[in-house]
Amino acid sequence: MHHDNKGFGTRCIHAGQQPDPTTGAIMTPVYQTSTYVQKSPGVVIEDYDYARSANPTRKALEANLASLEGGRHGIMFASGLASLAGCIHLLSSGDHVLLCDDVYGGTYRSLDKVFKQFGITYTRVDMLDLDATEAAFTPKTKLVWIETPTNPLLKVVDIAAVARIGKARGAIVCVDNTFATPVLQNPLSLGADIVSHSCTKYIGGHSDVIGGVLITNSDELGERLHYIQNAVGAISAPWDCFLLLRSTKTLHVRVQRHCENAAKIADFLAQQSQIERVIYPGRTDHPQHEIAKKQMRGGYGGMITATLKGGLPAARNFLERVQLFSLAESLGGVESLIEHPAIMTHASIDKPLREALGISDGLVRFSVGIEDVDDLIADIAEALG
Ligand SMILES: *Cc1c(COP(=O)(O)O)cnc(C)c1O
Repeated sequence: MHHDNKGFGTRCIHAGQQPDPTTGAIMTPVYQTSTYVQKSPGVVIEDYDYARSANPTRKALEANLASLEGGRHGIMFASGLASLAGCIHLLSSGDHVLLCDDVYGGTYRSLDKVFKQFGITYTRVDMLDLDATEAAFTPKTKLVWIETPTNPLLKVVDIAAVARIGKARGAIVCVDNTFATPVLQNPLSLGADIVSHSCTKYIGGHSDVIGGVLITNSDELGERLHYIQNAVGAISAPWDCFLLLRSTKTLHVRVQRHCENAAKIADFLAQQSQIERVIYPGRTDHPQHEIAKKQMRGGYGGMITATLKGGLPAARNFLERVQLFSLAESLGGVESLIEHPAIMTHASIDKPLREALGISDGLVRFSVGIEDVDDLIADIAEALG
């Protein structure tokens, strides 16, 4: 049964899945197999010959995630960074990549420390500045990598505007949609060629699996990415795909609660005298609130960044005192996390660049979970007090 014309929540639960044909099991089984028996040489069932190339659990998840992004092809990888690598494998030595300046640290590290060795160059540019973005293109720019909202400063890049510039220059435009999730933002409908997710975050949502996916509407890119998935081999395991299929069934409900809780907490933080600044795309004082309103729907996500007055000592004190918020890297799980970007997630960026980007020592990042919001607010109040 096709579900592409159904509502988002229905697709979360049903897209890509059908009862198991051999038993009627309603849940897609974990096809924990490395190979498939052939009736005669080359005579295989569907396209199942070897499990790096195709696996039914993975295929169901790929179809499910593709549907949620409004795409035709989903290609699963072992992690979000493996999906970035999958995208980079579309390029050749000598090609150039344009990146957001505030991109996920691991994305930057991959390009700077690994792919540079293969002659793939990159430029980081502030994509809020469309003139600067346009000026950063070179004749060799083949890929534009947008991330929005960004991490940890929650800058909101105008996807449609940057995609227009990228497409006019003949580049592939990819959006890392990890923070927004397909619930709130569908980059393919805004002109992007490819959407990338770290499924480790909101799509997984339970802090128990690592995964990545690329989604596209282009048959040509879909075919090349499936080829890369098999040829390079950074595939997602059947058990991980099963966990992610379980997760997407509640994605819409979880993200809705993440958004509601985060909006309330952002407003609470903004009223506290110990807080210098709150960054949340849903607040009207966010500098790109209008862009966020235009390209996101139904909410502004579960991430909040705030600067404490008093710099590192104040931030350290606060982070040691919170109880319900766990001090940990990562984000997007049902449980609330909090972290200190300058010391934790963004420590690999040297201090001058960090300061230039605005990642100060008083900055803390909240991944607001789906607990009772009153308990979360009480925890913050207590730790600030
Ligand atoms: C975590 C993250 C990644 C990398 O994903 P992994 O699954 O950890 O490899 C990429 N982009 C963003 C925005 C992330 O938050």
